[in-house]
Amino acid sequence: MAFSFSKSNLPKQLFINNEYVASKNSKKLEVFNPKDGSLVANDVDLAGETDVDAAVSAGEKAFPSWKKLAPTARRDIMLKFASLVEQHGQTLAELSRITLGTPYEPFGKFEVGACAEAFKYNAGWIDKFAGESFPQDDGFLKIVRNEPLGVTAGIVPWNGPLGTVGLKAAPALATGNCFILKPSEKTPFASLALGPLIIEAGFPPGVFQVLSGDGTTGALISSHMKIRKVSFTGSIPTGKRIQEAAAKSNLKRVTLELGGKSPAVIFDDCNLENAITWAANAITANTGQVCFAATRIYVQEGIYDKFAEGYKKALEERAKAIGDPDAATSVMGPLVDKAQFDRVSGFIERGKNGQGTLLTGGSRIGDKGFFIQPTVFTHVAADAEIHTEEIFGPVAVLNSFKTEEEIIEKSNDTNFGLMAGVFTQDINKALRVASEFDSGMVGINCVSLMLLSVPFGGSKESGSGRECGKDALQAFTERKTIMINMTY
Ligand code: NAD
Repeated sequence: MAFSFSKSNLPKQLFINNEYVASKNSKKLEVFNPKDGSLVANDVDLAGETDVDAAVSAGEKAFPSWKKLAPTARRDIMLKFASLVEQHGQTLAELSRITLGTPYEPFGKFEVGACAEAFKYNAGWIDKFAGESFPQDDGFLKIVRNEPLGVTAGIVPWNGPLGTVGLKAAPALATGNCFILKPSEKTPFASLALGPLIIEAGFPPGVFQVLSGDGTTGALISSHMKIRKVSFTGSIPTGKRIQEAAAKSNLKRVTLELGGKSPAVIFDDCNLENAITWAANAITANTGQVCFAATRIYVQEGIYDKFAEGYKKALEERAKAIGDPDAATSVMGPLVDKAQFDRVSGFIERGKNGQGTLLTGGSRIGDKGFFIQPTVFTHVAADAEIHTEEIFGPVAVLNSFKTEEEIIEKSNDTNFGLMAGVFTQDINKALRVASEFDSGMVGINCVSLMLLSVPFGGSKESGSGRECGKDALQAFTERKTIMINMTY
């Protein structure tokens, strides 16, 4: 099967057992282009119960031989898949862009790279994730094996349709699991287009499958009795539903990567230009639709005015590169759809209505599509909605602080705990503050970034479990202890 998908030949069928098949469910997904609100398709398959069951059966059939495949063979398949993703990267990014609206440079390209690199990174682990053994001093030799779970699934959001595939599918497949990908109903095309690449890379039928669908498909997956793990990225309410469905069904393992309202703490002694660049990147990358975006900016009194001036200037400069995501000159695109646009606009309007002072932005751009200005509010009360809730758009709040003690308390006064950043040239202070943040990840003189080799994830309601690094492999395996009696 040659890869022939494009925006004029969209993949719309489910990919089960290495074949494209029509869903047995008559309901379809409808998707729109956020640059102008036009309908892209209203006939994308929505997997129902029969489809999910078919994929699970194919996965169960494939699992015994896939888990036993020689590590070098599995590694080669993963590496080939990575290089095919790179080879077709521009098209895959275009298939995302048509409903996500993010320009190729920088975010579309970043996503393709993240997906391919995740496959390479995890392929490298295959013959190194070796388990442990313990000596027989007590008469028993102990071997601890890392064993795959069986049929696993990834349920992903719309804001990183390709990157999240790498984060979930790669460690699942590297450790010998079969994997079912459920892309977001808003961005199904890049995932559905992977079929020919899965076949060409050499994944046997049933090992790596794609089921487009909405929350009903996700619910079928998370309550399925034969799916052994769900790795989920998305909102907190959905994460809680998935955890509950897992508990009520077969106690499948669950990893949750959820929302955030990340603080960036900027001290008087920081490199101001560096702090401004990272803070501006944080809410403009992917139009602010990033879970670990630093959206609560706290600046120490001594440099507050200078920072505010520089931050405003940097964001207004970036606003000039907002435009048609298909144009090479655009760096920032629209929000993903009307629902997201209405949600973000609602926060901005309520913000303007007494929650804070507008420093920059605050308006829609144009009258077509879902474009919005990068927006910052200052002087926002701690309990204001724009200060406490995840907005998931290019919106931040900027406040000043006096002391280290005060700012640690303010930073941690939230149920989120995904990422935090501290900006200072005093390394002792940086490490002190980093250790006090209640957060899964901390940047020192940087913020809102992820690196494949180290754990990625949140504390508190931002999630449970970790992706990336060795943690991702651990999350897709069960430890099995074997005890050998050496005394007879
Ligand atoms: P969402 O929770 O609405 O949907 C995410 C996925 O869950 C979709 O595929 C959806 O179809 C599915 N789903 C919906 N209802 C379900 C149910 N009852 N059971 C099972 N699956 C169901 O989230 P979204 O709007 O697509 O994404 C935005 C959210 O994702 C934000 O809160 C953002 O912070 C979060 N996010 C987190 C990370 C992270 O790594 N921590 C990364 C990206 C996005």
